[in-house]
Amino acid sequence: MGKTFMPSFKNLDELRQHQLNGLQWTVNHAYRGSSHYREKLAAAGVRSTDIRTLDDIRNLPFTTTDDLRKGYPFPLLAVPESQVVRIHASSGTTDRRKIIGYTQKDIDDWVHFFARCYEMAGLTASDRVQIAVGYGIWTAGVGFQLGCEKFGAMALPVGPGNIDMQCQFLVDLQSTAMCCTASMGLLMAEEMKRRNLKDKIALKKMIFGSERSSDAMRARIKDLLGLEDMFDIPGMTELYGPGTGLDCFKHEGIHYWADYYILEILDPETLEPVSPGEIGEMVVTTLRKEAAPLIRYRTRDLTRVIEQPCSCGNILPMHDRIQGRSDDMIIFRGVNIYPGQIDEVLSPISDAGCEYQVHLTRRDDGKEYMTIRLECCDGLDPSQKPELALEQRCKTLLVVDDDPGIRMLCSKVLDSFEVTHATDGLEALSL
Ligand code: ZN
Repeated sequence: MGKTFMPSFKNLDELRQHQLNGLQWTVNHAYRGSSHYREKLAAAGVRSTDIRTLDDIRNLPFTTTDDLRKGYPFPLLAVPESQVVRIHASSGTTDRRKIIGYTQKDIDDWVHFFARCYEMAGLTASDRVQIAVGYGIWTAGVGFQLGCEKFGAMALPVGPGNIDMQCQFLVDLQSTAMCCTASMGLLMAEEMKRRNLKDKIALKKMIFGSERSSDAMRARIKDLLGLEDMFDIPGMTELYGPGTGLDCFKHEGIHYWADYYILEILDPETLEPVSPGEIGEMVVTTLRKEAAPLIRYRTRDLTRVIEQPCSCGNILPMHDRIQGRSDDMIIFRGVNIYPGQIDEVLSPISDAGCEYQVHLTRRDDGKEYMTIRLECCDGLDPSQKPELALEQRCKTLLVVDDDPGIRMLCSKVLDSFEVTHATDGLEALSL
């Protein structure tokens, strides 16, 4: 195609200089344009002239969902309302939706880096992209579509659901790529099998947004549809929308667009940076967002930075898949545990569709107990004693390999396996 949507930086120093310029611009812009930010920055005693290095970001105050609620319906607005050309809202479960305004430049920036996602996924102008995500007030549909058009591929904006039409388009229009949630992907894969259409379609790639998916689930989708590749696309309405990164064909992590935002990974309890490579909360600061700039916005999403550069050669840094929400974090024996880690523990023995529950209890002895109840799936062979593998993986997760005071108790209970992790050698299982 010739045209590229990748940044022109040759090395990380150039990227960091770009980030510093963007950070200074954002703080200045937010201070001048938003009374809300002005008050917060003044309270923190920081001006844009105080930002001399990227490390100075740590002197800036955090922005939270509370700040978005306070400014409803135009939170964080840092430009005159007449410059807002569009709004989108998040599908928040809280009382009030988060509404975010966009200037034309914000839209253009978003569309540009969304086109980059398709480039990263290895699509070309010959690809036909079936977009099966929500449209309207949600950021998803329009982002996928405008990014696709900007990239130069053919957009098929079918929208979510409507399985009959999805199947018809996959066959009649020979879509080569499909954008949807992973659960929709699984549904489509099973429909293709049920309708015996696998040999009649040309689908090569799927791009999954907005929810976590297990490796087992992805493997099943890939197998059922005979896909070449699948990609994860992260994103949230506050930060433009979906398309803020993508894993490349090497799948060593999700490249994120560090030329548009700075990503910090902080301990959600202490709000200090985690050790390199450890899981923490994603905190984002935009570098050129006009209508609703974000300064250290606490996303509540959990992930880790991938330290080593990607073998694909692209210098854009990477974070891991989203590991869940910081609200779902468990502190067990002083160790932070996240839903995504439990997924990893269970993935070798569980199949797509497996459900699990984590029970945390403190018993009369004052000690904490963790019980993982895993629903048995088809294909799980009890005689293989899968709970033993689970036990070892739980110990690794909890970094208790060498602790003689730790014992893992397992048993098969009715139709579910139960693994109890006790802090000492109690013999009983809690049922
Ligand atoms: Zn890569």
